[in-house]
Amino acid sequence: MAGVSRKEARTRAVAGLDRVGIPDAARRSRAFPHEYSGGMRQRAVIAMATVNEPDVVVADEPTTALDEERRDQVLRLPAEQREAVGAALVLVTHDMDVVGGHADRVPVMYAGRLTELGAADEAPARPRAPCTAGLPASLPRNALPERHLPALRGTPPVPGALPTGCAFAPRCPLAADACRTAEPEPREVDGRLLACHRAEELPHPAHALFLKEPRTA
Ligand code: SF4
Repeated sequence: MAGVSRKEARTRAVAGLDRVGIPDAARRSRAFPHEYSGGMRQRAVIAMATVNEPDVVVADEPTTALDEERRDQVLRLPAEQREAVGAALVLVTHDMDVVGGHADRVPVMYAGRLTELGAADEAPARPRAPCTAGLPASLPRNALPERHLPALRGTPPVPGALPTGCAFAPRCPLAADACRTAEPEPREVDGRLLACHRAEELPHPAHALFLKEPRTA
């Protein structure tokens, strides 16, 4: 902690550990990481992220490899900490359930570019961009009877060698000639920001695009 005395730093560290529910925080603040359980280490990291009362907390894939119960516990903590210190929380995730329950607004990115921006209760559940649509289509609960889960064809582009036009075109079931020549600019369509040349033509919900395609890979 820069700019504070050792005594103040320890006071803040203990308060931070206490805030995330570490029992006997004063004593535990002197423990080594290997003396904490896995769950306590996750809490300690959340305390570290908020102890200096930041304006913004970025949680990058915070729920990877966690089961559902642990996932909800881990996500609840940053939300509580965010309110306690008055910070904005940016969640970076591929988990659609995390998005729906824990975000206010959802920007969807592909190859470093914005493809869709909408309210959290709409964007993941009712996608409007083909790129976004592949995500709910990949959830087992959305699979059609007797069909494999659909998969996006191809692979993600290399960041230093993006294709001309829309970066999603090589994988998009709706790609047209215009998509391969001009990069789509974000524009407002039905209350959402969409970067897609064919936004007005998309079926609703757009993930039907992918549910029609059995897995080929
Ligand atoms: S701009 Fe074209 S290729 Fe890109 S997502 Fe829209 S339809 Fe697909």
